Amino acid sequence: MPELPEVESLAAFLREHAVGHAVARADAASFSVLKTFDPLLTALAGQVITEVGRHGKFLDLSTDQGLHLITHLARAGWLRWRDDLPTAAPKPGKSPLAFRLRLDDGSGFDLTEQGTKKRLAVYLVRDPAEVPGVATLGPDPLAPDFTLDTLSGLLAGRRTQVKGVLRDQSIIAGIGNAYSDEVLHVAKMSPFKIAASLTPEDTAVLFDAIKTTLGEAVKRSAGLAAADLKGEKKSGLRVHARAGQECPACGDTIREVSFADSALQYCPTCQTGGKPLADRRLSRLLK
Ligand SMILES: [Zn+2]
Repeated sequence: MPELPEVESLAAFLREHAVGHAVARADAASFSVLKTFDPLLTALAGQVITEVGRHGKFLDLSTDQGLHLITHLARAGWLRWRDDLPTAAPKPGKSPLAFRLRLDDGSGFDLTEQGTKKRLAVYLVRDPAEVPGVATLGPDPLAPDFTLDTLSGLLAGRRTQVKGVLRDQSIIAGIGNAYSDEVLHVAKMSPFKIAASLTPEDTAVLFDAIKTTLGEAVKRSAGLAAADLKGEKKSGLRVHARAGQECPACGDTIREVSFADSALQYCPTCQTGGKPLADRRLSRLLK
């Protein structure tokens, strides 16, 4: 799933390639992708893209007439830039194509989604706050006003695991399953640590880990074409999706805890005092 660094890079790419161009046409290629009905997609035709922004993991293209085309790529969605898009409307069908935006010079992008669970979402609104997931977002961790005090305030009193706090979009915007694993590995912190139990020193370490991990991922992706971002994310990860491989910091074997529809990865030596965490799914099966 694209998280803050990838969406930030997609926004930067689109700022360079789409801003200043008028929309030729916008088409939903699947019935479920468009979550709004007013204004109509056809209203976009002729409007000039003036800015491309990001809210957490949401991408926001704004136009000269005050509309915002906002998209959330979900778990299996992606944006593919094309210099020469077909002029005809895409046909709804079984292809992974979910949405297409064509600009006045024939370039534009496809939003695609692999797999059978279709969660990619597109919204056309007059105000980004009309998108429910945007309205409830917590602060952006890369914003200059996201300080150590901000993080302390967000963690205080929360009797939940720090992994869950980092992933909760209404607490902190933009960090998902992959970068929460990465941040916790850099901070040498157990994903199961209770947020409220962090000492001021722990919080300072976590704060630095958030800023450096996300900042470096954005830097690594900067200037890459949209097509190359996925590979860059994968090759830059230290523990996420690397169960069974060596920890790049200490050489221990990276382990995994599985949940119903996700899994987290961590290094026991770096993060949990050498002790493997209980994999609840496995222990349930063994009972
Ligand atoms: Zn390690």
